[in-house]
Amino acid sequence: MGKTMSLHNLREMLTKPGCAVCRLTTEATEGFFRSLLWESVNDPDARSDIRQAWGFCHQHAWQLAQHQDSLGIAIINRDVLGNALRTIEKAQFQALPPLSLGRARESLSPGQPAAATAELVAQLTPRSTCPACVQEEKTEVMSLRALMKHLLAEQGLLAVYQSSDGLCLPHFRQALTYVRTESVFEALVSGQRAIWERLVDHLSQAIRKCDYRFKDEPRGEEVGAWLRSTTALAGERGDRRDAALNRNRRLPKKG
Ligand SMILES: [Zn+2]
Ligand SMILES: [Zn+2]
Repeated sequence: MGKTMSLHNLREMLTKPGCAVCRLTTEATEGFFRSLLWESVNDPDARSDIRQAWGFCHQHAWQLAQHQDSLGIAIINRDVLGNALRTIEKAQFQALPPLSLGRARESLSPGQPAAATAELVAQLTPRSTCPACVQEEKTEVMSLRALMKHLLAEQGLLAVYQSSDGLCLPHFRQALTYVRTESVFEALVSGQRAIWERLVDHLSQAIRKCDYRFKDEPRGEEVGAWLRSTTALAGERGDRRDAALNRNRRLPKKG
């Protein structure tokens, strides 16, 4: 991916269900994993980044596993696990002298980490961020900056943003940090307000129809609002199962 986010990409993602920035981020991460598995499994720099981070974080390790590339993942994981194995092979319990200050401190506060294993704990702690998280962060910054830049531009993204599912709360909060003018602020906030008002209304309808007195009323736009509201608050799941959850969702019409 280049250093700028294309207007076309943003526009396209805003027409899909859920938060456009979450989707762009997931797509970029998927691209990162594909290129890692196809071209970079044996690349020394990529391997060193992964080793420094002690592998991928929980979310990204499982996202990578969903690619079902047994050979690529075996090569990557053997490298990291081999390194972990060498680290614990050399490890020793560093016992404190019975009358030392450290031993006294430990017996006074049993909750504090043991000094005898502190060095090994430090060695097994990631020295850098998960490489896929680094990639995600770049995509988030790039797409949110582009969205703010193009929101009110001629032929910009305002209309498509207004009829989208809006940004998830974490990305909305981050978008606000890039707003520099009142007009962009108004456009962003009023757009997001209308989107959340609609969602809250759908939740209210869904809750109402759980009441036995109204349970025979036909189902409408409130179907799936509980999942859409989870996305709105926490962001998309960021894995492929997400696609299955969203398969039957329609983009709500504006107004
Ligand atoms: Zn998001
Ligand atoms: Zn990660």
